[in-house]
Amino acid sequence: LDAGEFRRQGRQVVDFIADYYDRIDEYPVRPTVAPGFLARQLPDTAPSWPEPDALASALRDVRELILPGVTHWQSPRHFAHFAATASNVGALGEALAAGLNINPFTWAASPAATELETVVTDWLGKALHLPEQLLFCGGGGGTLLGTSCEAMLCTIVAARDRKLAELRGDERMGDLVVYCSDQTHFSFKKAAHVAGIRRANCRVIPTCRESGFTLSPAALQAAVCADEAAGRVPLFLCATVGTTPTAAVDPLRELCAAVAGHGVWVHVDAAYAGAACICPEFSHIAAGAEAVDSFSTNPHKWLLANMDCCALWVRHPTALVAALGTDDDVILKDAAASAVVDYKDWQVALSRRFRALKLWLVLRCHGVEGLRGFVRAHVRMAAAFEAMVRADPRFEVPVPARFGLVCFRLRPDKYWIWM
Ligand code: PLP
Repeated sequence: LDAGEFRRQGRQVVDFIADYYDRIDEYPVRPTVAPGFLARQLPDTAPSWPEPDALASALRDVRELILPGVTHWQSPRHFAHFAATASNVGALGEALAAGLNINPFTWAASPAATELETVVTDWLGKALHLPEQLLFCGGGGGTLLGTSCEAMLCTIVAARDRKLAELRGDERMGDLVVYCSDQTHFSFKKAAHVAGIRRANCRVIPTCRESGFTLSPAALQAAVCADEAAGRVPLFLCATVGTTPTAAVDPLRELCAAVAGHGVWVHVDAAYAGAACICPEFSHIAAGAEAVDSFSTNPHKWLLANMDCCALWVRHPTALVAALGTDDDVILKDAAASAVVDYKDWQVALSRRFRALKLWLVLRCHGVEGLRGFVRAHVRMAAAFEAMVRADPRFEVPVPARFGLVCFRLRPDKYWIWM
């Protein structure tokens, strides 16, 4: 496309998105389509030659074929899963990054993109009241990945390699043990498995309703001591701030104290509720994070940064780089390597997206106060909804609403009335 045509077609796409949001509450949230419905309506092969007026006809297909078959995550009536909040600014940030299409795997591959990521992760960390030890300004540092699962995988691998180096050999690999609770997101087990931890060495510690489904420091300590006594090697704890089932907040300070002296890497998965730390009145949920090794949260869940954006901060970036750093390709060697961040060494893949641009725009256009207002509005709505549900005898609220999450269910004994 020449510049003029690009502008013309770009406007069509922006108009399309704006129209979609104007009418989004008219769509049924979930599609009623059967498997194969779309494939049946599309050609079997890609066109050999450019279609005439391809964008316009593709947009027509999006409207007529695709939209009837999607779940409308941005619908005001979509309440499944944790939110994937979006904003116009987040979408524009994505468009800008896609338009520039740079690949900042090393500092030299795009100095400004790398430096913007270091700046913006410090900005976000400060806005979330995270301890300085996790930020570049305090000797740690942050990066922007796609998902929390990637953050878990990268940190387990860093912990694993650090531990095996301490133990002077890979023979103890089969003895490494990781810890979580029965409320921890399932992606943790997957990440541990991918990192080579034996499935039998993933300790899932039970929680209970009386303690609000939080991980018990005493139970954790007992598990760690039992493993040590049996000759195994405690490696990694995944604590959660805002569990998926009930948004429970594990007690970070007490958990860190429980494993202190046992050489356990403590990671905090704050995928959803980490965003709440932006409000001073909720920042206590990360109390004790001074002692953790890593902390991650998804701004794409609750901070208006469109998919995908997971911020990961580590206290010792050198541990990540020691495990994930590569030095094999002469083209990628950075003259100033020791003085700069090469983000390829903080993640699994080489190539990476320019996510910092989107998050930077979101922070600039909404401001920290704007994001606080957004989070508080969700918390207020959840409280109002909880009050309505509690006032209805057909329902019970098994745990108090936390953040924007209200858990409720039909009372089995009242169910017949409703039927
Ligand atoms: N951790 C928690 C607490 C979650 O709620 C979720 C998903 O909702 C995840 C991790 C997985 O996140 P991701 O899809 O970014 O890997």
